Amino acid sequence: MKSPLISLENKNIFVTGGSRGIGAAIVKQLSDLGAKVAFTYSSQQAAAEAVLANLSGDGHKCYQLDVSKSAEVESVGQKVMTDLGQIHGVVNNAGITKDQLILRMKDEDFSQVIKTNLEGIFFVTKFFSKSMLKNRQGSFVNISSVVGSSGNAGQSNYAASKAGLEGFTKSIALEFASRQIRANVVSPGYISSDMTNSLTPEQLKYFADRIPLGRPGEPVEIAQAVAFLLSDAASYITGQTLHINGGLYLA
Ligand code: NDP
Repeated sequence: MKSPLISLENKNIFVTGGSRGIGAAIVKQLSDLGAKVAFTYSSQQAAAEAVLANLSGDGHKCYQLDVSKSAEVESVGQKVMTDLGQIHGVVNNAGITKDQLILRMKDEDFSQVIKTNLEGIFFVTKFFSKSMLKNRQGSFVNISSVVGSSGNAGQSNYAASKAGLEGFTKSIALEFASRQIRANVVSPGYISSDMTNSLTPEQLKYFADRIPLGRPGEPVEIAQAVAFLLSDAASYITGQTLHINGGLYLA
């Protein structure tokens, strides 16, 4: 649906993890608002191709990418810029969970979550900011989680990665501001997706009982905010975290 306030016409936007859930809703929303979108998937090629086929307009592309590998980010980033040209917006959405209580958490599960959710954002930001800094325009939106602010038992790795993402985003907002490049965080609460479908019934009930608006969010409710922050309607907003959680956590 087109909004009179928000247009992404003439903007090329790169989104990580667009094959499912929140990322797929973001990719769809951006294309509905006129953007040309390049998005990635990790392993689910068929899901990514189904998302691609459903986008509005043409010229969109999808790519296989593991964001935790810096060389892959570099080579996929080069392909994206060859295919679409200058990138005006980046959404760091890809994220994983490997939940466990701290005494049972394997070392590799702690590092894999940090590598994917935090180092991956560093690799992607470093690559795309080079040309944005030269062009003196651009917008980053990084997807955090309510647990980055509130903490959550059994998610020390995930919460650390998301809290780190928020500090990272504030820092790049300050670093890039003189070139008119903005960076913001969208922090979802409990949103219906594959990630939350894998929560235990006890975890699901814990969240559902605590949401003042009385329901989980839908991926499109995150996507609309991401589109706003990428658009020129948000031209004076940088370094901020927008919490979208039905009142579950008040910052
Ligand atoms: P999903 O698990 O539904 O989708 C994850 C996406 O990330 C998929 O596109 C997946 O690709 C991709 N991905 C996974 N690992 C990698 C990797 N190593 N490199 C590149 N891409 C990868 O997640 P959600 O839609 O639920 O979550 C999206 C974001 O929102 C995440 O950052 C998450 O932390 C955050 N979030 C989600 C909440 C929720 O309630 N769902 C709540 C708060 C935050 P493939 O399909 O190929 O596997």
